[in-house]
Amino acid sequence: MPTSLFPTTSAPPSRRRAAPSPADPAINDKALAVHARLSPVYACPIPYFHSLDPLSELVSSLLSHRTRNAESGRAFKALRARFPDWEAVIDAAVPEIQAAIAGVTWPELKAPRIREVLLAVRERCGSLDLAFLGAMDVAAARAWLEAIPGIGPKTSAAVLSFSTLRMPALPVDSHHHRVAQRLGLIGARIDVGPSHAILRAQLPADWSAQDLYDNHEILMLHGQQVCHHRRPACGRCVLVDLCPSAAAGAREP
Ligand code: SF4
Repeated sequence: MPTSLFPTTSAPPSRRRAAPSPADPAINDKALAVHARLSPVYACPIPYFHSLDPLSELVSSLLSHRTRNAESGRAFKALRARFPDWEAVIDAAVPEIQAAIAGVTWPELKAPRIREVLLAVRERCGSLDLAFLGAMDVAAARAWLEAIPGIGPKTSAAVLSFSTLRMPALPVDSHHHRVAQRLGLIGARIDVGPSHAILRAQLPADWSAQDLYDNHEILMLHGQQVCHHRRPACGRCVLVDLCPSAAAGAREP
């Protein structure tokens, strides 16, 4: 499966090959308990933050890698303002694209990557339109996207979930991944890529697109607002009794 071609701080190859754990009913129950506990805290159902067509969502997702939402959002708007359509981005010189997206991390890598991905889409389906993915099941649509170099599980899930396709796919970003690891939903050696399949399998197969979107959003928001990277605020975390990583003393009244 192709992986991101951007620089990464992820685990070395021996760690990235870690296989998904076998299904464990207790872990599935915990995943559901976490969802039930966090849903009222973050006011589910959460409104979708984008209404982009799937190809635009793909470009937006490529821009967002290791970049704050506000900066990738500005870069996306700048790209749309500078070029009339995605065909024009394919026809453009890479430095022109790079100039438009200068605010994101690694614009010198993302500019050629975006152009190459757009070219690959046009070559593989004959047009710059990914609406046909909506007629496929999620696994097939993800496989179609991930066959393009530079598109990994996070991007494919984001395209299917966040775009106007509104398909039941579960994206996992770095916050979501960190909280899931601390809660013991995934092992410490499971990288973001393989965590997608494991975390999705812990949730009911018949969950709707909104259910899975909410699951991603609440774990991401919890990582941003409570389970911080450096100093998790365990003392005010509603998951403290479920969490093997809770800081010493956080469980005390
Ligand atoms: S108890 Fe602490 S480590 Fe566990 S999820 Fe909450 S904030 Fe994160």
